[in-house]
Amino acid sequence: MNRNILVTGASRGIGAAIALAFAAEGDNVGINYRFDESGAKETCRKAADLGVKARVYQADVGNSSDVGKMFEAYLEDFGSIDVLVNNAGGGLKIPEGRFEDMPLSYWDEMVALNLNAAAYCSSHAVRDMVKNKKGGAIINISSVHSVITYVKRKTFPYCAAKAGLNMLTKTMGVDVIRHNIRVNAVAPGFISTTATTRYNEEELDAFLRKIPAGRLGKTGDITPLVLFLADPEKSGFIVGQTFVVDGGQSIDGTIDYMLQEESNG
Ligand code: NAP
Repeated sequence: MNRNILVTGASRGIGAAIALAFAAEGDNVGINYRFDESGAKETCRKAADLGVKARVYQADVGNSSDVGKMFEAYLEDFGSIDVLVNNAGGGLKIPEGRFEDMPLSYWDEMVALNLNAAAYCSSHAVRDMVKNKKGGAIINISSVHSVITYVKRKTFPYCAAKAGLNMLTKTMGVDVIRHNIRVNAVAPGFISTTATTRYNEEELDAFLRKIPAGRLGKTGDITPLVLFLADPEKSGFIVGQTFVVDGGQSIDGTIDYMLQEESNG
């Protein structure tokens, strides 16, 4: 389609899959990363092999000054932005203990990555989209844990920041639609990526038992919805919404479906 896309956190996982899905549609892609330069270059090479323009941008998206420099470089390279995917995020290394043990530095880091980053990047993207009067789309990658808790792993700031991201999606969405810029969010459930390799077999089994669809998710469960939300021909009347893609997990959050099946005989 020859649009200009920027995907944050695209060195691997869901972000890399999204960047490559856009490239496969013929869109040019900017690939952001923080640490994983080789992963970002690999995504970039795969996108370029699909015949589109692709560039990598190192920036900590939780840092507003880094984000400013990234957009300066991106707009210099691509001229304008049509679609921003705020994907970078995650739980990082979750500290031991309960709420009262939580280091406040962990709170700050999680909110910077999972909420502030989307506000910083969207602010630059919207300014450019307004200037160019072409409209555009912003898609925020939230989490099922924006709507159900994740207490076992003590991810208080992650859940709170992702819930904030859903509300940013609504508030920004209703404001910038007057410029024909559509903001929506996708909230994945358990999607197998490098981020989920930290779980052992017992933990994976516990996740699986809470998913009515009876399987873990894959990046291909997320990418078609992101492409759909980026396309005004298909989703032009969808504004400020968060779509949960979780195999049904959030509907009954705490139910163990396998145990239920066993007890039903
Ligand atoms: P992942 O495999 O760990 O990838 C995370 C990506 O974010 C990497 O490219 C990483 O790049 C980048 N990143 C992390 N911190 C960054 C920062 N400060 N600045 C710029 N880039 C940064 O994670 P994933 O599973 O694909 O998750 C992607 C998104 O989906 C996240 O927002 C996550 O919260 C959400 N999500 C995932 C799942 C799941 O089950 N996988 C479920 C719900 C929601 P570097 O390594 O280079 O820093």
